[in-house]
Amino acid sequence: MSTKNTHIPEWLTVPFAGITPAPSQEKGQDLFPTGNWRSIRPVYRDKLPPCNNACGTNEKIQGYLDLVKRGKYLDAYALIKEDMPFPSVTGRVCYHPCEQACNRGKYDEAISIRAVERFLGDLGQALTSDVVKPGKPNGKKVAVVGSGPAGHSAAYQLARLGYAVTIFEKSPKAGGLNRGGIPDWVLPQNILDREIERLEQLGIEIKTGVEVGKDITWDDLKKNYDACVLAVGLTEPNSVRAEGEDKEGVLYGLSFLRDIGMGTSKVKLGARVAVIGGGNTAIDCAREALRQGAAEVTMITVEGNTKEMPASPEDLHDMVEEGVELLHGRSVTAVLGNGKVEACQLHKARFSGAINASPITVDRDAPAERFVVDNVIIAIGQHASLNWLPAEFKNERGTIKMDKFGRLGDTNFFAAGDIAQVGSGQPLMVVNAVGDGKRVAFNLDKVMRGEKLQPRTIPVDVIFDLNRMNMTYFPHFPRVQQEMLPTEKRTKTQDEVIQAFTEEQAVEEANRCFSCGTCNACDNCYLVCPEPCIARPERSNGMYKILVDYCKGCRVCIEECPTGCLEGVPELDFDTGVVRMDTAFAISPGLHGRQAQELKNLGDRPAKNI
Ligand SMILES: Cc1cc2nc3c(=O)[nH]c(=O)nc-3n(C[C@H](O)[C@H](O)[C@H](O)COP(=O)(O)OP(=O)(O)OC[C@H]3O[C@@H](n4cnc5c(N)ncnc54)[C@H](O)[C@@H]3O)c2cc1C
Ligand code: SF4
Ligand code: SF4
Ligand code: SF4
Repeated sequence: MSTKNTHIPEWLTVPFAGITPAPSQEKGQDLFPTGNWRSIRPVYRDKLPPCNNACGTNEKIQGYLDLVKRGKYLDAYALIKEDMPFPSVTGRVCYHPCEQACNRGKYDEAISIRAVERFLGDLGQALTSDVVKPGKPNGKKVAVVGSGPAGHSAAYQLARLGYAVTIFEKSPKAGGLNRGGIPDWVLPQNILDREIERLEQLGIEIKTGVEVGKDITWDDLKKNYDACVLAVGLTEPNSVRAEGEDKEGVLYGLSFLRDIGMGTSKVKLGARVAVIGGGNTAIDCAREALRQGAAEVTMITVEGNTKEMPASPEDLHDMVEEGVELLHGRSVTAVLGNGKVEACQLHKARFSGAINASPITVDRDAPAERFVVDNVIIAIGQHASLNWLPAEFKNERGTIKMDKFGRLGDTNFFAAGDIAQVGSGQPLMVVNAVGDGKRVAFNLDKVMRGEKLQPRTIPVDVIFDLNRMNMTYFPHFPRVQQEMLPTEKRTKTQDEVIQAFTEEQAVEEANRCFSCGTCNACDNCYLVCPEPCIARPERSNGMYKILVDYCKGCRVCIEECPTGCLEGVPELDFDTGVVRMDTAFAISPGLHGRQAQELKNLGDRPAKNI
């Protein structure tokens, strides 16, 4: 094809091979106008890792695992503390929905996130003063009713926002179910004490032995505080509705554990104990019963097998290992005995519809079984005690009527935690109560500042699909296991069953994290790019930039990004700075602008003969 009479601008006559000087930001494009060929542009766009998404308080898990990898433990602790006031607690007690969601679980074994969290929490416990400081006082007072995880979290975030916070707690000690529910061999009391001390160091006043509805009223709260968070939990145990439930020797799981946790228990268990229920509280009761001296403990469940039980599989495994027996598909229809428990009467039973979410069908035509026991512990859930709450704020389920922001009507009262989440389909667990307390604190703050409460509208891209990452960079490695107290020792003490990670273990486990969808500054893109397109003033997420003048859209960086945070976006999606083959002469800064200018200036200059 003849190119005779084609006008070639000066800059495109520079020879392509053997050139000097070396390409630079200013000159490189002049020498290699590769940007012209591009139809896609690589863009750094972090996704949300599924672990962060599943954590009830959306801890920045990927972020702190990455910091642990690099030995920046204090930074990792500070990052966790943005969303979680007590990582030393959740690092022990959390049912870790993050791990169930972890992408690594689909590859080999999920990251042991909770164990790394505990490592960081314990590091925080050892600090003489915490990294978190109270906010600048804003002159506003908030009352928080209840010192459980939800109240603790709301008070913590409010203090950070500058509110003067007072917690009212009806029990003799603060902590809610973290103290009067979760046993010592899961969460030692001194760990919780230290976290409560941290709350007080933020300037939060905790008044224990003060019951709202008895010692102070709704009107007192309204009159004396600018706003209030009700985080009162579900404090009353459910009845099994069996004949003879009031006999001596029948206990309720909640009170059984609460009294032990508060140090006020006078219970002496007999040798044979039946625990009624198939959930986590029942498991705690059964395992605690062994530690309180029972020789034979049997858990009686309506669920037909272990898979149907709404209990944490790990805890179930540990319980069976400790010697607790299971009896499935039964309901207690009567407690037998002459004033004192002698046996349970059992009938075959099943859930009428969905497991754990439907009425129980008891086969009363089948012969009853007599199960000989000395004590019965009933652990089939709990409900609220809200006699003090004005009727207008009660709903048909016997809990608090509130909007989706946790706000009671147009008042400055908010509700958080189990009391707000029961019946919502959310599992009731510490981390969900913490997350709820945090969100409510921020909502309360918005109302105080006269802002409108609005639902979040920004879409979130959670990266569940391993195909969006480059898995060739991740060799298979087994999960680092936490040591366990030997089984034979466990039932004789209140010592922690699950042991802490060493520093080496924490780093090794953090190293297994894929950093799903989030740049961890691995530098791959920087190294594999065949042009000098990728610039980064320092190796850190957010510091990587694509110099589009040079990028020809070869996709190498995108394909070789292990974490899947680089993506190719069609050039047509960009309003400005478009550099494409068919717009090579567009008026835009850089070479193309100059090319366009040159074309304008061509005038009557004679064409070059080539
Ligand atoms: C036995 C048991 C074991 C559990 N184990 C785990 C576990 O291992 N991991 C996990 O993630 N979750 C566990 N859970 C669930 C978890 O404990 C709860 O979801 C969480 O504690 C709820 O927090 P909260 O702050 O809403 O309520 P709570 O922890 O119940 O705290 C509410 C507080 O409010 C106080 N209060 C109530 N009424 C008043 C009033 N009128 N005036 C003043 N104070 C008041 C109560 O005394 C209590 O201290 C367990 C639950 C139970 C019952
Ligand atoms: S609090 Fe629970 S869910 Fe959140 S990161 Fe820790 S272990 Fe996972
Ligand atoms: S691999 Fe890491 S970032 Fe990905 S889900 Fe698991 S913990 Fe989160
Ligand atoms: S290749 Fe590495 S440095 Fe580059 S974007 Fe992906 S994670 Fe970040």
